[in-house]
Amino acid sequence: MYLGSVKFFKHFIVGIVLLLIIGLSFAAVYLAVMNKNYQKQISELHSETVLAQSTEKPDRSQESEALEYQELYPEMYADLSEKTTVSPHTIYLTFDDGPSDRTAEILDILKEKNVKATFFVIGKEGPKEKELMRRIVDEGHTIAIHTYSHKYEDIYESVESYLADFNKIYHLIYETTGVKPDMFRFPGGSLNIYNARLQMELSSELTRRGFTYYDWNSSSGDADIKTTKDSVYANTTKSAANKDRVIILMHDSVKKKDTVAALPDIIEYFKAKGYDFDKLTNDVKPVAFNYKEE
Ligand SMILES: [Zn+2]
Repeated sequence: MYLGSVKFFKHFIVGIVLLLIIGLSFAAVYLAVMNKNYQKQISELHSETVLAQSTEKPDRSQESEALEYQELYPEMYADLSEKTTVSPHTIYLTFDDGPSDRTAEILDILKEKNVKATFFVIGKEGPKEKELMRRIVDEGHTIAIHTYSHKYEDIYESVESYLADFNKIYHLIYETTGVKPDMFRFPGGSLNIYNARLQMELSSELTRRGFTYYDWNSSSGDADIKTTKDSVYANTTKSAANKDRVIILMHDSVKKKDTVAALPDIIEYFKAKGYDFDKLTNDVKPVAFNYKEE
């Protein structure tokens, strides 16, 4: 008898196994086809999305919305220099916090020594100070912005307050001398405890407006409370040692008599070392604190 025999069971098992193989093969082919269709749908969807995005009008309401302070003072812009100048073996004398009676004395020395310098001025509106601003320009020096009020707590309160102060000194310089200033120096330098919080935003905004800022890599130390003619000379020559391009921080506010007294010797010292003197222009590559030239 075939049914129920050992042979029957053998055939039965072989049949089941064959059916399983065939069934699994069909399932595999089916899944492969489905997967292919699925991939196709995805790529179609993707290209539709891309197409939709490219034909859609871009949402300008988000991307072109300026920060409020970017819209303030629409005339307060400068032309950024397209080139960068690196003059070797050059001294840039810079004087902050003037003009004052000391400025007049410094201008006399610079004229006598045939040296050009840079003055980062503050908001002094008297006729004498205005005359000095004009003299700075007439005698071929650079006039640039320091600050109007020089009150750290006020100017560094926010980007808006810095811009408000900047706008005042910008217009004072422009209306007094006819020069549109395009450079500035942050009071206390570009990074200090007063402005660290908004330094990035502030420097970005002023750079966006085309203004170039200059720190220094040598200091006369004349901002110290106790100075002498010798200390100003020593600080300047020491801090400039081994530097090729030197931006020297000095002050021409009214109390800086030691700076005036030391200046002729400082100029002679650097001349003897073969340095050229120049004024800053906005193409001069800036230096930053602790910045080392290669
Ligand atoms: Zn200052």
